[in-house]
Formats: sequence, structure tokens, C-alpha cells
Amino acid sequence: MATIFSRIVAGEIPCHKIAENEEFFAFLDINPVALGHTLVIPKKEVDYIFDIDDPMLGRMMAFAKRVARAQEASIPCKRIGLAVMGLEVPHAHIHLIPITKESDMYFGTKKLEITQAELAEIAAKIRNEYK
Ligand code: 5GP
Repeated sequence: MATIFSRIVAGEIPCHKIAENEEFFAFLDINPVALGHTLVIPKKEVDYIFDIDDPMLGRMMAFAKRVARAQEASIPCKRIGLAVMGLEVPHAHIHLIPITKESDMYFGTKKLEITQAELAEIAAKIRNEYK
């Protein structure tokens, strides 16, 4: 069965898309820990990120870098933090999180309270800066 992220790529489940190319897809996390929290995934289903071969992992990081540049340009922050866990969704993904302090990357129970309209607005801002 397709993962929830493959269903997002296929357009079966809505998302706030940021960018895509032939191999990768970026979209806002539905439960952000910080404003602009974005996920980068390979379109090909791989569960564990370190099972991705080196050349593809390099291309994934280069794609994530372009997304991070767009986040830096559109979300007030000091830099973009990067995290990989994958304990919830078995489809490799990189979390890209605009941060100004360490606690902005706290993945505990408290998530940002944000509306769909606000998510749409943030996604549009990031998309606008994606080169
Ligand atoms: P992890 O697997 O890295 O522990 O966490 C999975 C992440 O995916 C979580 O931050 C969660 O909020 C996000 N997520 C789970 N399901 C969906 C979904 O259907 N849409 C979006 N946009 N994000 C999701």
C-alpha cells in the first residue's frame, strides 16, 4: 500500500506544496513545530533515509538546500535546522525548520497552533522565493 506521503505526491491527499522536481517533493508539515516547517521526500518510496544510495542522497540534499534558501528568504529566522527521524511515517523525509533558538526544534507534544489559511499563506511565501 502506498505511504501517506506517496498519496500526497499523487495528489490524492491535499498538501501545501513548496516545490518538486522529477525525484523529490517538498511540502509543509501538517503539524509544524515552527513556522515554515517543511518536509522533503523522495518520490520513490524508501522507508529509511540511509538506505538511499549516495548519489541520490546527494541530490536530495541539494534539493533540500534550495528549499532551505527559499525558507531563509521568506521566514524570519537565524537559519534552517535539519532533522531526520522517520518514526511516524515510513517514507524517508527531511524536516527543514526555520529556527532562531535551539528550542524551536523541539519535537515534543506541543506543536504550533496554525490554521490552514495561515499554512497556505506561508507556503505561498516560500514558493515565491524558490529558485
Ligand atoms: P517523523 O516520521 O519524522 O517522526 O514525523 C512525520 C512528520 O510528518 C510529522 O512531523 C507529521 O506532522 C508529518 N505528517 C504526518 N502526516 C502528514 C500528512 O498527512 N501531511 C503532512 N503535510 N504532514 C504529515
